[in-house]
Amino acid sequence: MLTIKNLHAEVEGEKILRGIDLEIKAGEVHAVMGPNGSGKSTLAKIIAGHPSYEITDGQILYEGEDLAEMEPDERARKGVFMAFQYPVEIPGVSNSMLMRESYNQLRKENGEDPLDPLEFEDYVAEKLKLVEMDAKFLERNVNAGFSGGEKKRNEILQMAVLNPKLSLLDETDSGLDIDALRIVSEGINKLSGKDNAILLVTHYQRILNYITPDYVHVLVNGRIHKSGGKELALELEEHGYEWVTANTEVNG
Ligand code: ADP
Ligand code: MG
Ligand code: MG
Repeated sequence: MLTIKNLHAEVEGEKILRGIDLEIKAGEVHAVMGPNGSGKSTLAKIIAGHPSYEITDGQILYEGEDLAEMEPDERARKGVFMAFQYPVEIPGVSNSMLMRESYNQLRKENGEDPLDPLEFEDYVAEKLKLVEMDAKFLERNVNAGFSGGEKKRNEILQMAVLNPKLSLLDETDSGLDIDALRIVSEGINKLSGKDNAILLVTHYQRILNYITPDYVHVLVNGRIHKSGGKELALELEEHGYEWVTANTEVNG
């Protein structure tokens, strides 16, 4: 589904990613872990198409197509979804309106008729249950006055509505109390299937107690220093990130 080859990227002229190789197949969950400032969000934003981040070398292929050639909205229409580390508030735009418009764009792409507000209400009702959110959040402006945890749940609600092929979840666990973490994780698990893939960016191991990744990658200073199975997250928890940089050689 996603093949990243020797990806170098910068923001504001500053080199952030320094040669990333990553292969994600349908049905897989990949966790990207690493210290603050290592480039985790940058990696997710580059894949989603954030305009401030520039690819300076290497390639990202999504279903065989060069992602760099696609505008962010085209990526979204082709099934790439990003849940932000810091979801933005959008005054004046209702949450249900944003989700319905986005979802209808996807339906259009697939040759399906758009849902009217009432039809969408039925459709989204099921999704609300998944993240244990009240319908009142649909009528509020996007993220306006939402608590940290509510914003993160709302991101996963968007994911549930849009049913993406590739989900980039950036620190969806941060700012969640233990109950919200469980709810959000269970929601993500229910949305994870053989036809889609998830890239889960996290700083802490704790969300991986709920979501079992197929692969764990450790990103330090813009490079993947180590990759392994789910047990790698536990080793990291025990030894810290310095353990990885002290014990591995990086190519390039
Ligand atoms: P992480 O998500 O792993 O904590 P980020 O990808 O957010 O790391 O950031 C990696 C580095 O890039 C940091 O040093 C950060 O300050 C820098 N960076 C990220 N975004 C910008 C930006 N818009 N302008 C300048 N520097 C940035
Ligand atoms: Mg980040
Ligand atoms: Mg979002």
